[in-house]
Amino acid sequence: MRKRWWSLTAVTALIAATLVPAAPAMAAPTFKVPFPCGQSWSGQTRSDHSPAYAVDFNRTDDLGDPVVASAPGTVDRVTDLGGTSYGKYVRIDHGGGYSTYYAHLNGFNVSVGQSVGYGKVIGWVGSTGGSTGPHLHYEQRLNGSDIQVRFNGALALYWGTKTYTSNNNCSSGTGSGTVDTAGTPLTVRSGPGTGYGSVGTVTDGTKVTIQCQTSGTTVTGTYGTSSIWDRIGSGRYIADAYVYTGYDGYIPNVPRC
Ligand SMILES: [Zn+2]
Repeated sequence: MRKRWWSLTAVTALIAATLVPAAPAMAAPTFKVPFPCGQSWSGQTRSDHSPAYAVDFNRTDDLGDPVVASAPGTVDRVTDLGGTSYGKYVRIDHGGGYSTYYAHLNGFNVSVGQSVGYGKVIGWVGSTGGSTGPHLHYEQRLNGSDIQVRFNGALALYWGTKTYTSNNNCSSGTGSGTVDTAGTPLTVRSGPGTGYGSVGTVTDGTKVTIQCQTSGTTVTGTYGTSSIWDRIGSGRYIADAYVYTGYDGYIPNVPRC
């Protein structure tokens, strides 16, 4: 009996050791586009890139444009590799094994050990290292291996070039716009679509406060064709195609309805 009892204990201990789970993987940080709120950048991925999942960002006259932290973390590398590789680059440790890289910078705005939050300017777009023209080389890594980039949880385009609009460190709130119909009053609807009943009109030139935006029926107006509707009051929606907001598409800091 005694011998068997010990034996069972040993087996139980072995099973227990085997079943001890690995430390659970932490949820990925919510990474944001590494540029200030509202800016649109062309991001390119390509299978011959090194590492493969890195994104190269460009926009017109981008030399010297600020680069911002894409998630909160601690700067753990501020390095100048000279005329090779990344050139001047910053690495941010976001915890849980996640890190981000910002390479070919023109200059640094942070130092090692510094805590950064969303939107913190860490440096400026440059063409240092093995770069043939100004751009930001950006990576997300998990435990040192590069991973497919996500912004706000959405996978970047692999492979190809796509425009990414930053909502990094946007102050959340309302937006503003100006109704532009070339004269005709714009119908206000009770919901986000032409199928909803009319609850009034706003005259051409009216400045409106946009509480939130949502998708509804597609409308062709002064600013092209769009399915975005702007809520300008309780139960009051107007077609964004007739509203000048300064943005093509959704306004970065305005919530979805
Ligand atoms: Zn690159």
